[in-house]
Amino acid sequence: MSKKVIKRSWAEPFKIKMVEPIKMTNRGYRDKCVKEAGHNTFLLKSEDVYIDLLTDSGTNAMSDYQWAGMMLGDEAYAGSKNFYNLWDNVKKYYGIPYFVPTHQGRAAEHMISKIMIKQGDYIPGNMYFTTTRLHQELAGATFIDVIIDEAHDPQNTHPFKGNIDPQKLEDLIKKVGAKKIPYVSMAGPVNMAGGQPFSMANLKEIYNLTKKYNVKLWFDATRATENAYFIKMREKGYANKTIAAILKEMCSYFDGLWVSAKKDLMVNIGGFLATRNKKVYEEARNMVVVYEGLHTYGGLAGRDMEAMARGIEEMVMFDNIKARIGQVEYCGKQLEKYNVPLVYPFGGHAIFLDAKKFLPHLKQDLFPAQSLVSEIYVDSGVRGMERGIVSSGRDPQTGKHRYPKLELVRLTFPRRVYTQAHIDVMVESVAQVFDERKKIKGLKMVYEPKYLRFFQARFKKL
Ligand SMILES: *Cc1c(COP(=O)(O)O)cnc(C)c1O
Repeated sequence: MSKKVIKRSWAEPFKIKMVEPIKMTNRGYRDKCVKEAGHNTFLLKSEDVYIDLLTDSGTNAMSDYQWAGMMLGDEAYAGSKNFYNLWDNVKKYYGIPYFVPTHQGRAAEHMISKIMIKQGDYIPGNMYFTTTRLHQELAGATFIDVIIDEAHDPQNTHPFKGNIDPQKLEDLIKKVGAKKIPYVSMAGPVNMAGGQPFSMANLKEIYNLTKKYNVKLWFDATRATENAYFIKMREKGYANKTIAAILKEMCSYFDGLWVSAKKDLMVNIGGFLATRNKKVYEEARNMVVVYEGLHTYGGLAGRDMEAMARGIEEMVMFDNIKARIGQVEYCGKQLEKYNVPLVYPFGGHAIFLDAKKFLPHLKQDLFPAQSLVSEIYVDSGVRGMERGIVSSGRDPQTGKHRYPKLELVRLTFPRRVYTQAHIDVMVESVAQVFDERKKIKGLKMVYEPKYLRFFQARFKKL
């Protein structure tokens, strides 16, 4: 017997039971489509997309267990059985007693911002997320980024680039006063930083700091199981803990959390708010009736809540999360072979192309990431999204573009949807565009909506 170590590949812990055909298109057709869409991939028709890496939000493939649950929807207006199943799993897996369902994550963000924030308050957070920050600002707060400096450097390989800098946070508390900070907003992994996690050690430090000043700590737990996976793989003392145990420990430090179920929970729609504070709960339960629907359905069908309840059970399964993050890593390693500039370390949900390095001849005013994402679509029908100056929006005070350090294209992986062969096709397309990058001339914005402009802005080629 040979003692040679043979490479052992891994594969997904599931097989395909139902397929959805996708349309094959040619370059000329896609060129026409992208012009009609104003070079904004959000404005493309989904049927004109070959491999859709726009987002992992609600684009997941549900399991047969989840689909079976959909048939057990209790569509009563009040007191649906599925609501109680979901609540039980929120208590069991997140360890937080009170809970209100919402139709998606931003509805929960809207409610918690309105409940907690007063005009003139400050919300410190580990980089921003688009909808999170907008709801905090609409409620009257100024958002302050307190993420560690490493997060703004795409080449820095710090294992926990989602960490909050305790010094930045303490300086802010001292400057504006704890009374002006209704809560610290912590997310993990941090999407806008490239899907970068925070460590348990950092969370504990931030917890102690917020306790010292009597400031609340809230968790955007939308991608919490991905964060738990990185803690297991990278942080000392966690290698032998289950994802479920790490998730529960993380949540134990927070006063409350909100979730977009369209991510970790592997459903197509849903969200929720959970809190330890009975008063906050009672306010949220009342507010949900105004904006979403009765507190036992929150804008969802009973069947949606059942799929969420079952999704929670599946999201903490190690093999599921390992395959998901393994696919992202596989893609990153393939792109590296072509020297495509990427954000490091590879994130939990997406590969981010560093558009500043990819297109060094384009000034940020020419929307390099937006240009790149449009070119990739034309090349192969692969749809990604811009995470740079367009997503960053304008400063509410000055009305000028915010110029983020990170100018990125995000290629996001829906859970359990694409095969390794799809990834190979995508990688080769990005490599081709990289090869011909000098031909890319940039874009001009010709239409700009007031809020979250990246969704609806239109561009023309220069
Ligand atoms: C998607 C997302 C949200 C918003 O949730 P929606 O369901 O899209 O409204 C908030 N925070 C994070 C980290 C997200 O990924």
